Amino acid sequence: MVGAGIGGLCAAAGLQRAGVEVVVLERADEVRSGGSGLSVFSNGIRALDALGVGDAFRAVTTRTEGLRAGQRRPSGAWLSTLPADAVAELRVIDRADLHGLLSDAVTAGTVRTGRRVTSMYPNGLVESVGSGTAGARRAWDRFDLVIGADGLRSAVRTGWPEDPGVAYSGYATWRGITAAPVELRGEAGETWGVECRFGIAPLADGRVYWFGVRTAGIDEPGDPALLRELFGSWHRPIPELIDATDPAAMQYLPIEELSGDLPTFARGRAVLLGDAAHAMTPDLGQGGGMAMEDAATLVGLIAPFAGTECGDAPELLDEALRRYDELRRPRPQRVAARSRMIGRLAHAPGPLLCAARDLVVRATPAAALGRQAAWVHEWLLTR
Ligand SMILES: Cc1cc2nc3c(=O)[nH]c(=O)nc-3n(C[C@H](O)[C@H](O)[C@H](O)COP(=O)(O)OP(=O)(O)OC[C@H]3O[C@@H](n4cnc5c(N)ncnc54)[C@H](O)[C@@H]3O)c2cc1C
Repeated sequence: MVGAGIGGLCAAAGLQRAGVEVVVLERADEVRSGGSGLSVFSNGIRALDALGVGDAFRAVTTRTEGLRAGQRRPSGAWLSTLPADAVAELRVIDRADLHGLLSDAVTAGTVRTGRRVTSMYPNGLVESVGSGTAGARRAWDRFDLVIGADGLRSAVRTGWPEDPGVAYSGYATWRGITAAPVELRGEAGETWGVECRFGIAPLADGRVYWFGVRTAGIDEPGDPALLRELFGSWHRPIPELIDATDPAAMQYLPIEELSGDLPTFARGRAVLLGDAAHAMTPDLGQGGGMAMEDAATLVGLIAPFAGTECGDAPELLDEALRRYDELRRPRPQRVAARSRMIGRLAHAPGPLLCAARDLVVRATPAAALGRQAAWVHEWLLTR
C-alpha cells in the first residue's frame, strides 16, 4: 500500500482483518490528517461497516437527524432545503479522530512512515526513498499487489501512461474547526454569494467544521484576514464561526481534481484507490466516501487470497483486479462530474449569473434534490 490517508488506512484495516499481510509506505513522518472536518454520508458509513470500523466511527460521531440543510443567501434567506432523509444519516467527523480510529484499526508497525515512493513497476516492484527525518536511503520492495492510495499527486499513477494530471478548479478554500461549541440552531449547509460561499457542518461535541470558498487564482495567498472581509456581513453564525477559530489552525488550499477520467484503475500488479484514482472537487463531500467504497470493494475481492501465495494462481488475482476496475471506475467518475458541475454553478462569474443560478436553485423541487442525493448516498457493496 502506498499512502496512509483515509483510503490507504481503510484498505489496510480491512485487508488485515481478512488475514492479508499488509505494508503501508507513507511519505510523511507521521500519520496525520490536518485540522478540518469530513462529512460522511450513508454510502461511506456502509463501507466503513464492511471494513470493520463502522462502530468505532459511530462512537465518535452523531447523526445529524433533524438538521435543516440546504442553500441560503448571504442574508440567511433559504434558497432550498434538502429533504430530511437526504441528510438523516450524515455524520461529520474531525479528520484527526478519523485518522486516529483508522490507525488504531491496523496493527502496530504496519505503516512505515518517512518513506516516499518514487517509482512502481507493473510487476510489483516499488522504489522508495527516505523522506523527512528518515534520511534519503533508497529501498526496493517487491509486493504481490501494490495499492496506490497516495492521493491527488499519486506517484503510483505516474506509472499509468494515460495519467491525465491535475487541474485547478478556479476556486480555493479556507477550512477550520471552531475552538469551542457554537450554537447552530439546527441549521447547516451552504450559503452562496457572488463568487464565494460558506459551508457549515456540526461535529458531535458541538464544535463546528466550516469552510469558506472563493473564486481565486491558484497562486493567490489566502490570508485568514480576508475571511472577515468576504463573509463578515453574512448571516449568523458565519462571522461568529470565523471569530471562534484560531487563524493559525485554519488551512487554505486551491481546489484541484484529476483533469480527466482514467481508462482503468488496475494495471499489472497495481491498483489505484481514492484520490489517486479519481480526485474530485469537494462540492458533494464525497471524495473520502468514494475512497471508503473503493477500499471496501477491493478488500472484498482480495480477501479470498489471504494466506496464499498470489504466484500460485496469478490469473485469479488478475481477475479480481479486473473486477475491481469494472465495479469501481464508473461511479466515482460520475460523482466527480456531478461535483464539478455543482462547483461551477456555485462559482458562476458575476452577480447576474449568480442571480440566475439562485433562481434555478429556488425552482428545483425538494423531491428532485432528494433523488439526486439518493443517487449518491445509496450504495451497496458488490463483489
Ligand atoms: C476542501 C476539501 C473538503 C473535503 N471535504 C470532504 C468531505 O466533507 N467528505 C468527503 O468524503 N471528502 C471530502 N474531501 C475529499 C477527501 O479529503 C479526499 O477525497 C480524501 O482525503 C482522499 O483520501 P486518500 O486516502 O485517497 O488521499 P489522501 O488523503 O490525499 O492521502 C494520501 C496519502 O498518501 C501519502 N503519499 C502521497 N504521495 C506519497 C508517496 N509518493 N509515497 C508515500 N506516501 C505518499 C500522503 O502523505 C497521504 O498520507 C474534501 C477535500 C477537500 C480538498
